[in-house]
Amino acid sequence: MTESIDARLKCLHCDRETDHTITYAGPYLNKIRCKECGVEIALDRKRIMETYASDALERVLSKPQRMTEELRGDLTAFLGSLPVRILTKPYRVAKEIVDVVVDPANDENDEKDG
Ligand SMILES: [Zn+2]
Repeated sequence: MTESIDARLKCLHCDRETDHTITYAGPYLNKIRCKECGVEIALDRKRIMETYASDALERVLSKPQRMTEELRGDLTAFLGSLPVRILTKPYRVAKEIVDVVVDPANDENDEKDG
């Protein structure tokens, strides 16, 4: 069962606060999507916990009863802590922690081959 929460977070791609849709699958955070640029970060909780091994993260990744300012700050800090040059680095690098999906329909800077 999935559930979505809207929150303003700092988008790594827009480099400013934008509206995000945070989706929880069951009790855990599943993905975060920026409504402005369409960048979607799919989080693999198991991989993240293996990498960061932090109790604080467990809390960030767990579905909240409600979106508090504190959690919002934690989420923003978490996003900022990701190796998120991933957004500008080869996809393979991003795959190590998260899956970043850019919706081409919302990407005005459509890259061309060659
Ligand atoms: Zn964005």
